[in-house]
Amino acid sequence: MGNSSSHEPKGVVPMKSRFRGAVMGSLYGDCLGERYENMWTEIDVKRVIMYYNDTAKKVREKEAKEKGFVPHTDDSCMMFDLGESLIRNKSYEPRDVMKSFAETHAASKPQRNYGKNAAILLRDVRERNYEGNIYYPAKRQFSGTGSYGNGSAMRVAPVPLFYHGDPVKISNLASEQSRLTHTNPKGVNGAILQALAIEKALNTDNIDDPAQFVEDLYMQLNELTSDKAGLEIYREKCDAVVKLLSSKSLVKAPQYNKEIGSDVTAHRSIPAAIFCFLYTLNPKRIPALSKYNGFLRATILAAAYSHDSDTVGCMAGAIAGAYYGVEALSEEWKFACEKSDEAIKLADGLYELNTTGTGDRNEDPVAENE
Ligand SMILES: [Mg+2]
Repeated sequence: MGNSSSHEPKGVVPMKSRFRGAVMGSLYGDCLGERYENMWTEIDVKRVIMYYNDTAKKVREKEAKEKGFVPHTDDSCMMFDLGESLIRNKSYEPRDVMKSFAETHAASKPQRNYGKNAAILLRDVRERNYEGNIYYPAKRQFSGTGSYGNGSAMRVAPVPLFYHGDPVKISNLASEQSRLTHTNPKGVNGAILQALAIEKALNTDNIDDPAQFVEDLYMQLNELTSDKAGLEIYREKCDAVVKLLSSKSLVKAPQYNKEIGSDVTAHRSIPAAIFCFLYTLNPKRIPALSKYNGFLRATILAAAYSHDSDTVGCMAGAIAGAYYGVEALSEEWKFACEKSDEAIKLADGLYELNTTGTGDRNEDPVAENE
């Protein structure tokens, strides 16, 4: 990968800071991208930088009315629902997770922007009072082929934190929680890939070879998924990521969208998030971003280049946060993001489960999916 040896973070980032970084990074990426969510187009990187700085300035100069004034969207709603259920039960309880998804959705403002099919599904299970096989409604969607939207990957950050250190359990739980809403193999594999990317970032101190990072992730997905049918497209997309990482000239948004893609489908957005993280390891890659830290480079690039800006933003933020740690976020944006205190609490709760190893955490996720 030429001289893309990777600068930050220097020294070892403590694991607790990485846990906080993964959850806060996911929340912050969602909040940053929310601004551009309905534009469905590429935004000039400088424009996102301006928004980033203006927001920070508002906080510094006490113009901001209240803490949490930058709203998050459905991505973070579902991340909180999933993560808080894992902590509450100390295990994966599919019916409890589904109930949390649906109740939060029912109480939410339209601006949360849940996907249309997710909204239909959540209303449906709620009206049935969560009875029957909880996985069945998702299976039936799209004439029985299931959804391959990115909705089960965007919320997955708590999963690698819950089973940190155990890629098999991470992969199984990423898959199971996906099947509550997204059963198509492309959707399931997207959730697994995103969960494995966060786990790998948690475990990595320095990335000397970004292309190898992608290759290792694909090999791990290939080994751990039980949905081999949905793999081919991820092979193609990981190859596209490697190709663009090796590009000698600046990768611009149209090429990124043409070759990797950043829309609402899983296979055309999870690889994009991984790309944004890896491409910005080297501060010189995007000149406009060179004076910002690696975490900010990754998330600003994701919000600017991506059509599904909040979701690619949150996924890139989760991976980058797991790598750089929570200190990479500015105090101003921690103040600005809606529910940042809750995000820290969620991360700490998951960290605590890891260090104490209490309850059922070490058992396999319950499969109710027969
Ligand atoms: Mg969203």
